[in-house]
Amino acid sequence: MRGRIIKGIAGFYYVHVSHQGVYECKAKGIFRKEKIQPLVGDQVEITILDEENRTGNVITIYPRQNQLIRPLVANVEQALIIFALAKPEPSLNLLDRIMVQYIVQKLPIVICFNKTDLVTNEEAEQIQNVYAKCGCKVIFVSAKKQQGIETLAQVLHGKMTTVAGPSGVGKSSLINLLQKNVSMEIGCISQKVDRGKHTTRHTELIPIDEETYIMDTPGFSSVEVPSVEKEQLICAYNEFLEYEPRCRFGGCAHINEPDCAVKDAVSDGKISRIRYENYISLYEVLIERRRY
Ligand code: GDP
Ligand code: ZN
Repeated sequence: MRGRIIKGIAGFYYVHVSHQGVYECKAKGIFRKEKIQPLVGDQVEITILDEENRTGNVITIYPRQNQLIRPLVANVEQALIIFALAKPEPSLNLLDRIMVQYIVQKLPIVICFNKTDLVTNEEAEQIQNVYAKCGCKVIFVSAKKQQGIETLAQVLHGKMTTVAGPSGVGKSSLINLLQKNVSMEIGCISQKVDRGKHTTRHTELIPIDEETYIMDTPGFSSVEVPSVEKEQLICAYNEFLEYEPRCRFGGCAHINEPDCAVKDAVSDGKISRIRYENYISLYEVLIERRRY
């Protein structure tokens, strides 16, 4: 049977098999010999040892699409970054730092702003404008009013998504709402997976439906600026790209150079000043770091 490793603890791998549930498995010795370690997120083939006790063996690991390093997990397909529009006030600088982290890992990003009920439409639109051309999908939801949840569910459907965001933004509330629609069978699994405030230091996947998983990433409130080359930073600033060819200097960093088309676009209001300032602040951190 083919399944997905949703959790690994002390040599046991918990494998979710569509429409069958979760099996507690050991990895057979061959992996040790081949120096491959099964990872959370791996698609695996298992054989059942004992159906009643739901135990089995992992016998094959299917080829991985990718492998993230922090946390160590396989086959993540996209990243969902959740922020609140208010309470807590969103730090867009932190949002950009998280974005950079995923972009260097080449993951498509969805930004989800929760708590639309706490702000006016104009305030929500202002944020929307900041991220309009950032190259990521941006959605607005309210867990409290249960608005936008269907859109969020569609964005996640059929994929394995890693979820990040500061605490208090409504991640648990949204995940609970998403799980509401799931069948009893999966619901039980989710309980078994036991998402809770105190549990997860281990990486684990939360099944939303038979083919949809999310991975909660704890402790994301203070992301360091990821270690990327300063030249790579621009990848997180998609809206700069159309102006860049008109900068006077090739390799323009868009900071102190004269005749910089990106800076002009900021002055003309074509590029969000907030995004530009975040870019500069991240750039400076990277420069500073290189000195040591
Ligand atoms: P987490 O720390 O990201 O998991 O956030 P929680 O889901 O625990 O939510 C933090 C607080 O925000 C709780 O008091 C929730 O009731 C509240 N909250 C969550 N979503 C919303 C929302 O859409 N609107 C409002 N007004 N409050 C919300
Ligand atoms: Zn420039």
